Amino acid sequence: MSERWTQAPRVAVVGGGLAGLAGGCALADAGFRVTLFERRPFLGGRASSYQHPGTGEVVDNCQHVLLGCCTNLVEFYRRLGVEGKIRWYDRLTFLEPGGRASLIEPSSLPAPLHTTPAFLRAACLDWPDKLAIAGAMAALVPMTPRDRGESFLTWLRRHGQTERAIARFWRTVLVSALNEDIDRVSVPSAAQVMRESFLKSPSAGRMGVPTVPLTELYSVAGGYLSARSGEVRLRSGVDGFRAEVAGVRLLTPGGEEGFDFVVLAVPFDVLSRMLPQTSAAEPLRQTLDQLETSPITGIHLWFDRQITDLDHAVLLDRTIQWMFHKSKLVAPASSRQPALSPVEGRGHPIPAGGARQLAGREESNGSYVELVVSSSKTLVERSRAEIIDLALNELHEFFPESRAAKLVKSTVIKEVHATYSPRPGVDLHRPRPETVWPRVFLAGDWTATGWPATMEGAVRSGYRAAECVARVTGQREATFVVPNLPPSGFMRLFRG
Ligand SMILES: Cc1cc2nc3c(=O)[nH]c(=O)nc-3n(C[C@H](O)[C@H](O)[C@H](O)COP(=O)(O)OP(=O)(O)OC[C@H]3O[C@@H](n4cnc5c(N)ncnc54)[C@H](O)[C@@H]3O)c2cc1C
Repeated sequence: MSERWTQAPRVAVVGGGLAGLAGGCALADAGFRVTLFERRPFLGGRASSYQHPGTGEVVDNCQHVLLGCCTNLVEFYRRLGVEGKIRWYDRLTFLEPGGRASLIEPSSLPAPLHTTPAFLRAACLDWPDKLAIAGAMAALVPMTPRDRGESFLTWLRRHGQTERAIARFWRTVLVSALNEDIDRVSVPSAAQVMRESFLKSPSAGRMGVPTVPLTELYSVAGGYLSARSGEVRLRSGVDGFRAEVAGVRLLTPGGEEGFDFVVLAVPFDVLSRMLPQTSAAEPLRQTLDQLETSPITGIHLWFDRQITDLDHAVLLDRTIQWMFHKSKLVAPASSRQPALSPVEGRGHPIPAGGARQLAGREESNGSYVELVVSSSKTLVERSRAEIIDLALNELHEFFPESRAAKLVKSTVIKEVHATYSPRPGVDLHRPRPETVWPRVFLAGDWTATGWPATMEGAVRSGYRAAECVARVTGQREATFVVPNLPPSGFMRLFRG
């Protein structure tokens, strides 16, 4: 684009999830005039919190965790100055029904051998399982296999995995990371997770947990934009756009508004409805039609007493997959800044210094736990009461002390379209940020980031779209995406 810019170009970012926020903040830092449109009355998108009307508690729409390999998300936290609100854990506890624990943690051995001692000690796997896992890991060390249409389950069977290794290791790790069953997951998606988080370096697998409600973490981005001459418009849905030679017109219920560039950072189904009814839009619409979603269910339980000393645990062999001890994880409201997250339709604004934010610590001796079920297709049709019953019965198996505890209140949050499904062939349908309209760019966890549908993927996509805008305006060296963690130990020998 050979335009001369006498003043900073105006960029509209549509969508205030992590993709839009990251892209918008990067552009504002690079001197663009950013206007962010968000349909809801709060920022954060799928990673947000709200005051739940039934319980009166502030809850995250679901527990969100990150890993050490999420370099762009961590960089985004630093940019916003909220990196101190993440607590990091090196050790994961895998619990069997009955309560027996296996601890997975790094040792001083070089990558990719750093977790070997923990695996050798793990009681939840037998020797044939451990040998099989080592063999399959060795196959993933040199490079990420290509997508040949095979599911990862088939790949695992071809690589001699035992049923227990599949159930207790591969399925456990991958269903949480990819939010899809392993018989529906592509080989590169699964391999990327194992290589980036397990194999490349000891710090890659550290788990980060926010110590504040999600909206408190991400609403900071609104202030960040405003402080850099940006504008955040909440409750401002965009219906569509019209791409012109000299700019893009956004179509909103209030009328049309012109911008130099637009970054569309909305979910893929929303984007599909936003596209103009022209033949130019057809290939993108058809691509988006190929994407499917998969659900996640969070079960929130408040007890009259403590049911475990653990901060979190991976739960094996049952429907519930993770326990997060929210009342241990989240700092008391009194020690935090007030949250700013009114919610539309499903809750109430969080009052300043909110009385029972994410409950727990400061509340008597009670405790609050969230149980998470990824790829929760079997729960979508089940009633709240049935899900809570099932969850309690399973919880009693893992934490026998919970049998004596009284359930004070509970809720179930089903995110039916939580993330796109990373099935074989999916990468063919994840579009790049550039579109047929030179001034319109795409962002979102579902775009072609090379990462799964995660906060890291969303931030990467926002930075990529921002790079495209900056480069088109002459900032040829603009780079916002930060590199992956470098491989360490023996992993430095492999490039794939
Ligand atoms: C239940 C659940 C659990 C998860 N757990 C994890 C986890 O542990 N770790 C992890 O890394 N990731 C997790 N994820 C995934 C993570 O939340 C997403 O990958 C990420 O938040 C997606 O960000 P995004 O900006 O791409 O999309 P979104 O967050 O969906 O943002 C899109 C935004 O666009 C807005 N919008 C929609 N339509 C319009 C319109 N017409 N006009 C203006 N704005 C509009 C929406 O309101 C929304 O704010 C989880 C997701 C869910 C649902």
